[in-house]
Amino acid sequence: MDLVRIKNVEKKYKNGVTAIYDLNLAIEKGAFVFVIGGSGSGKSTLIKMLYREEKPTKGQIIVGGLDVAKLRNKKVYKLRRKLGIVFQDYRLLPKQTVYENVAFALEVIGAKKDEIRVKVLKALEDVGLKHKLHEYPDHLSGGEQQRVAIARAIVNDPKLLLCDEPTGNLDPEMSMEIMKVLEDINEKRGTTIIMVTHDKDIVNKMKKQVITLKEGRLVNFKKKGTY
Ligand code: ADP
Repeated sequence: MDLVRIKNVEKKYKNGVTAIYDLNLAIEKGAFVFVIGGSGSGKSTLIKMLYREEKPTKGQIIVGGLDVAKLRNKKVYKLRRKLGIVFQDYRLLPKQTVYENVAFALEVIGAKKDEIRVKVLKALEDVGLKHKLHEYPDHLSGGEQQRVAIARAIVNDPKLLLCDEPTGNLDPEMSMEIMKVLEDINEKRGTTIIMVTHDKDIVNKMKKQVITLKEGRLVNFKKKGTY
Protein backbone atom coordinates (compact mmCIF):
# COMPACT_ATOMS: atom_id res chain seq x y z
CA MET A 1 0.00 0.00 0.00
CA ASP A 2 1.19 3.49 -0.83
CA LEU A 3 1.02 6.12 1.88
CA VAL A 4 2.05 8.93 -0.45
CA ARG A 5 1.19 9.28 -4.12
CA ILE A 6 2.35 12.20 -6.20
CA LYS A 7 0.97 12.51 -9.72
CA ASN A 8 2.12 14.98 -12.36
CA VAL A 9 2.94 17.59 -9.75
CA GLU A 10 4.33 20.95 -10.74
CA LYS A 11 5.12 23.82 -8.40
CA LYS A 12 5.65 27.27 -9.80
CA TYR A 13 6.12 30.08 -7.27
CA LYS A 14 4.56 33.48 -7.75
CA ASN A 15 7.92 34.95 -8.78
CA GLY A 16 7.91 32.65 -11.83
CA VAL A 17 10.44 30.11 -10.51
CA THR A 18 9.41 26.51 -11.17
CA ALA A 19 10.69 24.49 -8.21
CA ILE A 20 9.18 21.11 -9.23
CA TYR A 21 8.44 19.84 -12.76
CA ASP A 22 6.03 16.98 -13.48
CA LEU A 23 6.86 14.85 -10.47
CA ASN A 24 5.50 11.31 -10.16
CA LEU A 25 6.24 9.29 -7.08
CA ALA A 26 4.78 6.62 -4.82
CA ILE A 27 6.02 5.92 -1.30
CA GLU A 28 4.93 2.73 0.43
CA LYS A 29 3.68 2.53 3.99
CA GLY A 30 6.58 1.85 6.31
CA ALA A 31 9.27 3.05 3.89
CA PHE A 32 12.32 5.08 4.90
CA VAL A 33 13.18 7.45 2.08
CA PHE A 34 15.97 9.99 1.72
CA VAL A 35 15.48 12.99 -0.54
CA ILE A 36 18.79 14.31 -1.83
CA GLY A 37 19.94 16.84 -4.43
CA GLY A 38 21.82 20.11 -4.69
CA SER A 39 20.70 23.40 -3.22
CA GLY A 40 17.64 24.72 -5.03
CA SER A 41 16.72 21.32 -6.49
CA GLY A 42 13.23 21.42 -4.92
CA LYS A 43 13.66 19.25 -1.82
CA SER A 44 12.08 21.68 0.65
CA THR A 45 9.31 22.51 -1.80
CA LEU A 46 8.45 18.81 -2.02
CA ILE A 47 8.31 18.47 1.78
CA LYS A 48 6.27 21.68 2.12
CA MET A 49 3.70 20.40 -0.38
CA LEU A 50 3.32 17.20 1.64
CA TYR A 51 2.22 19.13 4.73
CA ARG A 52 0.31 21.76 2.75
CA GLU A 53 2.60 24.64 3.57
CA GLU A 54 2.64 25.06 -0.24
CA LYS A 55 0.10 23.91 -2.81
CA PRO A 56 1.12 22.38 -6.13
CA THR A 57 0.34 24.44 -9.21
CA LYS A 58 -0.63 21.27 -11.09
CA GLY A 59 -1.17 17.63 -10.28
CA GLN A 60 -2.31 15.61 -7.30
CA ILE A 61 -0.80 14.69 -3.94
CA ILE A 62 -2.38 11.97 -1.83
CA VAL A 63 -1.22 11.43 1.75
CA GLY A 64 -2.91 8.67 3.72
CA GLY A 65 -5.97 8.85 1.50
CA LEU A 66 -6.30 12.65 1.70
CA ASP A 67 -6.14 14.75 -1.44
CA VAL A 68 -3.76 17.32 -0.02
CA ALA A 69 -4.07 20.10 -2.60
CA LYS A 70 -7.85 19.94 -2.56
CA LEU A 71 -8.22 20.04 1.22
CA ARG A 72 -10.01 23.14 2.38
CA ASN A 73 -8.07 25.27 4.87
CA LYS A 74 -10.54 24.27 7.58
CA LYS A 75 -9.66 20.61 6.99
CA VAL A 76 -5.88 20.90 6.92
CA TYR A 77 -5.81 19.72 10.54
CA LYS A 78 -6.88 16.28 9.28
CA LEU A 79 -3.67 16.08 7.28
CA ARG A 80 -1.51 17.54 10.05
CA ARG A 81 -2.76 14.84 12.44
CA LYS A 82 -1.41 12.20 10.12
CA LEU A 83 2.06 13.67 10.15
CA GLY A 84 4.93 14.77 12.30
CA ILE A 85 7.54 17.26 11.17
CA VAL A 86 11.14 17.73 12.28
CA PHE A 87 13.23 20.73 11.21
CA GLN A 88 16.95 21.42 11.19
CA ASP A 89 16.62 24.03 13.95
CA TYR A 90 14.54 21.95 16.45
CA ARG A 91 11.97 24.72 17.11
CA LEU A 92 11.45 23.92 20.79
CA LEU A 93 9.75 26.28 23.23
CA PRO A 94 12.65 27.61 25.34
CA LYS A 95 10.62 28.32 28.48
CA GLN A 96 9.01 24.89 28.58
CA THR A 97 10.57 21.70 29.91
CA VAL A 98 11.23 18.64 27.76
CA TYR A 99 8.00 17.10 29.02
CA GLU A 100 5.97 20.24 28.33
CA ASN A 101 7.43 20.63 24.84
CA VAL A 102 6.31 17.15 23.89
CA ALA A 103 2.98 17.35 25.73
CA PHE A 104 2.10 20.57 23.93
CA ALA A 105 1.53 18.69 20.67
CA LEU A 106 -1.22 16.67 22.40
CA GLU A 107 -2.70 19.52 24.45
CA VAL A 108 -3.48 21.48 21.30
CA ILE A 109 -5.61 18.61 20.02
CA GLY A 110 -7.46 18.34 23.32
CA ALA A 111 -6.08 15.04 24.63
CA LYS A 112 -6.78 14.09 28.26
CA LYS A 113 -4.10 14.52 30.90
CA ASP A 114 -3.61 10.79 31.59
CA GLU A 115 -3.39 9.96 27.93
CA ILE A 116 -0.90 12.79 27.45
CA ARG A 117 1.33 11.47 30.23
CA VAL A 118 1.41 7.92 28.86
CA LYS A 119 2.14 9.04 25.30
CA VAL A 120 4.75 11.65 26.24
CA LEU A 121 6.68 9.17 28.39
CA LYS A 122 6.56 6.56 25.63
CA ALA A 123 7.79 9.05 23.02
CA LEU A 124 10.61 10.25 25.28
CA GLU A 125 11.56 6.65 25.99
CA ASP A 126 11.68 5.94 22.26
CA VAL A 127 14.17 8.78 21.74
CA GLY A 128 16.20 7.86 24.85
CA LEU A 129 15.38 10.97 26.88
CA LYS A 130 13.05 9.75 29.59
CA HIS A 131 15.60 10.78 32.22
CA LYS A 132 15.57 14.44 31.08
CA LEU A 133 11.85 15.20 31.50
CA HIS A 134 12.32 18.27 33.64
CA GLU A 135 15.25 19.86 31.81
CA TYR A 136 14.91 22.99 29.71
CA PRO A 137 16.06 22.93 26.07
CA ASP A 138 19.08 25.18 26.66
CA HIS A 139 20.50 22.63 29.12
CA LEU A 140 20.55 19.98 26.41
CA SER A 141 23.05 19.26 23.62
CA GLY A 142 21.97 19.88 20.03
CA GLY A 143 21.48 16.15 19.53
CA GLU A 144 19.29 15.93 22.63
CA GLN A 145 17.23 18.94 21.54
CA GLN A 146 16.64 17.28 18.19
CA ARG A 147 15.57 14.11 19.97
CA VAL A 148 12.99 16.15 21.93
CA ALA A 149 11.75 17.56 18.62
CA ILE A 150 11.46 14.01 17.27
CA ALA A 151 9.54 12.91 20.39
CA ARG A 152 7.15 15.83 19.87
CA ALA A 153 6.71 14.86 16.22
CA ILE A 154 5.89 11.19 16.96
CA VAL A 155 3.93 11.58 20.20
CA ASN A 156 0.59 11.27 18.45
CA ASP A 157 1.82 8.26 16.45
CA PRO A 158 1.63 9.82 12.97
CA LYS A 159 1.70 7.65 9.87
CA LEU A 160 4.27 9.90 8.23
CA LEU A 161 7.31 11.66 9.67
CA LEU A 162 8.81 14.44 7.54
CA CYS A 163 12.36 15.47 8.39
CA ASP A 164 13.93 18.50 6.71
CA GLU A 165 17.72 18.28 7.27
CA PRO A 166 17.33 17.01 10.86
CA THR A 167 21.10 16.51 11.28
CA GLY A 168 22.09 19.74 9.54
CA ASN A 169 23.33 21.40 12.75
CA LEU A 170 24.90 18.32 14.33
CA ASP A 171 28.35 16.74 14.34
CA PRO A 172 28.79 13.27 12.74
CA GLU A 173 28.50 11.40 16.03
CA MET A 174 25.27 13.11 17.11
CA SER A 175 23.96 12.77 13.57
CA MET A 176 24.35 9.00 13.71
CA GLU A 177 22.55 8.92 17.07
CA ILE A 178 19.64 10.78 15.48
CA MET A 179 19.67 8.32 12.58
CA LYS A 180 19.51 5.37 15.00
CA VAL A 181 16.51 6.96 16.70
CA LEU A 182 14.76 7.52 13.36
CA GLU A 183 15.54 3.98 12.17
CA ASP A 184 14.13 2.61 15.42
CA ILE A 185 10.91 4.62 15.04
CA ASN A 186 10.59 3.42 11.45
CA GLU A 187 11.07 -0.23 12.44
CA LYS A 188 9.21 -0.37 15.77
CA ARG A 189 6.32 2.02 15.18
CA GLY A 190 6.13 1.37 11.44
CA THR A 191 6.20 5.13 10.80
CA THR A 192 6.97 6.06 7.21
CA ILE A 193 9.88 8.50 7.13
CA ILE A 194 10.83 10.99 4.42
CA MET A 195 14.07 12.78 5.19
CA VAL A 196 15.83 15.54 3.28
CA THR A 197 19.58 15.51 3.77
CA HIS A 198 22.90 16.71 2.36
CA ASP A 199 24.87 14.20 4.38
CA LYS A 200 26.51 11.63 2.08
CA ASP A 201 27.84 9.50 4.94
CA ILE A 202 24.38 9.08 6.42
CA VAL A 203 22.77 8.12 3.12
CA ASN A 204 25.55 5.65 2.30
CA LYS A 205 25.53 4.02 5.76
CA MET A 206 21.77 3.66 6.15
CA LYS A 207 21.03 1.91 2.83
CA LYS A 208 17.46 3.13 2.57
CA GLN A 209 15.48 4.30 -0.44
CA VAL A 210 16.91 7.40 -2.12
CA ILE A 211 15.11 9.95 -4.25
CA THR A 212 17.40 12.33 -6.13
CA LEU A 213 16.09 15.68 -7.34
CA LYS A 214 17.95 17.87 -9.81
CA GLU A 215 16.69 21.30 -10.82
CA GLY A 216 13.13 20.35 -9.91
CA ARG A 217 13.12 16.97 -11.59
CA LEU A 218 13.27 13.45 -10.22
CA VAL A 219 16.45 11.99 -11.69
CA ASN A 220 16.78 8.80 -9.65
CA PHE A 221 14.81 6.60 -7.25
CA LYS A 222 16.75 3.72 -5.74
CA LYS A 223 15.42 1.08 -3.37
CA LYS A 224 18.72 0.69 -1.49
CA GLY A 225 20.60 3.73 -2.45
CA THR A 226 23.80 5.59 -2.01
CA TYR A 227 24.57 9.25 -2.51
P1 ADP B 1 16.10 22.89 -1.90
O1 ADP B 1 15.33 22.58 -0.67
O2 ADP B 1 16.47 21.68 -2.70
O3 ADP B 1 17.30 23.77 -1.64
P2 ADP B 1 13.85 24.61 -2.59
O4 ADP B 1 12.66 23.76 -2.69
O5 ADP B 1 14.06 25.42 -1.35
O6 ADP B 1 15.14 23.73 -2.90
O7 ADP B 1 13.88 25.63 -3.82
C1 ADP B 1 13.66 25.23 -5.17
C2 ADP B 1 13.59 26.50 -6.04
O8 ADP B 1 12.44 27.23 -5.69
C3 ADP B 1 14.77 27.44 -5.85
O9 ADP B 1 15.05 28.03 -7.09
C4 ADP B 1 14.24 28.46 -4.87
O10 ADP B 1 14.86 29.71 -5.04
C5 ADP B 1 12.77 28.54 -5.25
N1 ADP B 1 11.91 28.88 -4.11
C6 ADP B 1 11.79 28.21 -2.95
N2 ADP B 1 10.88 28.77 -2.13
C7 ADP B 1 10.39 29.84 -2.81
C8 ADP B 1 9.40 30.84 -2.53
N3 ADP B 1 8.72 30.84 -1.37
N4 ADP B 1 9.16 31.78 -3.46
C9 ADP B 1 9.84 31.78 -4.61
N5 ADP B 1 10.77 30.87 -4.97
C10 ADP B 1 11.05 29.91 -4.07
